[in-house]
Amino acid sequence: DPADTPTETREGVLLIISGPSGVGKSTLTNALLENLDADLSVSMTTRPMSKSDVDGEHYHFVDVATFEQNIINQQFLEHAVYNGNYYGTPRMYVQQKLDRGRVVILEIDVEGARQIKSAMPDSYAIFIKPPSEDALIDRLRGRKREDEETIQKRFSLAKKEIAFAESTDVYDVFVVNDDFNRAVAEIEKLIRRRLAEGQEP
Ligand code: 5GP
Repeated sequence: DPADTPTETREGVLLIISGPSGVGKSTLTNALLENLDADLSVSMTTRPMSKSDVDGEHYHFVDVATFEQNIINQQFLEHAVYNGNYYGTPRMYVQQKLDRGRVVILEIDVEGARQIKSAMPDSYAIFIKPPSEDALIDRLRGRKREDEETIQKRFSLAKKEIAFAESTDVYDVFVVNDDFNRAVAEIEKLIRRRLAEGQEP
């Protein structure tokens, strides 16, 4: 029956980038978006907007009721609660890009990465680590965004995230962000290798 024959699809590649707050993952992701031909998925969140956030660019900021309606309507590929707020990846956007053969980058937490990996085992998951705990706390302080109490909270959450990420088999690879240019080059090499694998019959 021809209807059972799968139609030819140009499946793209889904890349997951995770890492604790302060590790520099947004800066790394931006470099990857420029250097590779890739699209960034913009998540939906209920967390309050900060001064540097642009609605629709960093996130789609919505209220809890709207988010929960989107859960009911199955609009998310994955969603999770992080630090008391909802975050979710838009299903339609990602699926349409993948159907067109695009490389799509998700910048999501460990729980989201776990969900994506189990639903889509072909996705490629990278966890960005700080070179040390001292380096991480220095970076959190250096941003001068928050008071010491908030920084300590982020630091302890970050340590838990790293420990959790390392205790699971969710991530294909861990990259240490010791030097920005070196880390970008390493990630690019890993991704290009992964993309080349995908082209083999
Ligand atoms: P922030 O509020 O600092 O921008 O992000 C907090 C955490 O939520 C980060 O680890 C970020 O990667 C993660 N995150 C952002 N969007 C999503 C999403 O759509 N799903 C999940 N599971 N995590 C997300």
